[in-house]
This record gives sequence, structure tokens and C-alpha cells, in this order.
Amino acid sequence: MNDLRELYQEMIIDHGRRPRNFRALADADHDAQGFNPLCGDKVTVYLKLDDDTVRDISFQGSGCAISTASASLMTETLKGKTLAQAQALFEKFHRLVTGENEDAAAPELGKLTALGGVRDYPIRVKCATLAWHTLKAALKGYREVVSTE
Ligand code: ZN
Repeated sequence: MNDLRELYQEMIIDHGRRPRNFRALADADHDAQGFNPLCGDKVTVYLKLDDDTVRDISFQGSGCAISTASASLMTETLKGKTLAQAQALFEKFHRLVTGENEDAAAPELGKLTALGGVRDYPIRVKCATLAWHTLKAALKGYREVVSTE
């Protein structure tokens, strides 16, 4: 169990330092900005859809290691997924990080499981979910900044 926790920690540090898909998407058809005032995390999520499939997804922003790692892992996980799959993953991920489902280690969450440890730090849950809330706003076409508050 400790090995697993260490592995998860390493994954968060790695994605926090070298975030994947960290760029603006020139031909994005959806984008939104998110802000977590509790921690100061800012993120912009860019999305390019092909019908209801995520063809490309990226993000930019500045924030703590958790928010950056979460956005990085989210973009990695969602590329190629349908919007229905993305929505289902968000719900499972949300249950995982809020601790509503202790054994929520659903196999489809994959690397996102690494963020499960934030359930012990309620203030960090907002960091971990910021990118996802921002993605949701992007899909709804909101242009204003969404806040976790
Ligand atoms: Zn944060």
C-alpha cells in the first residue's frame, strides 16, 4: 500500500512539474477559464471535438502541483474519449476525490486514481477538480471565468 502511495505521489510530482498537453489549442472549438480562489489556481482548458469525441484537449495556467497534475492527467485521459465517457469519468473522479466512494478505484479511472489521496485534504479537492469544472464550462460554452466557490 505504501509503495502504491509513493508511486501515486511520484506521478503527481511528475505531472505537476512536466504537465502534458500544456499549450493553447489554436483550432479549439471550446475553451473556458477556471479559478480556484482558495489556492489561487488558474487554468484554461481547450477542446477540439469531432462530433462527440474529444479529438484534442489541452490546458494552460498556473497553480499548485495538484491542480497542474490533475489538469495534465485529465487531458491525457480524455483524449479520444466520447463526451458521455468523459462525463462518466468526471462523476467517478469526483466521487474518488471527495471520498464518497472509498473503494472507487474504478479501473477506468486509470492514472486519475493517483489523485485519490486528496480526499483527506478537503481544501485540495478544489485543486483536483478545477480542471474538470472548467472542462464542463467549456462544453457548455460559457465564456466567463468559472470559480470553484
Ligand atoms: Zn491548488
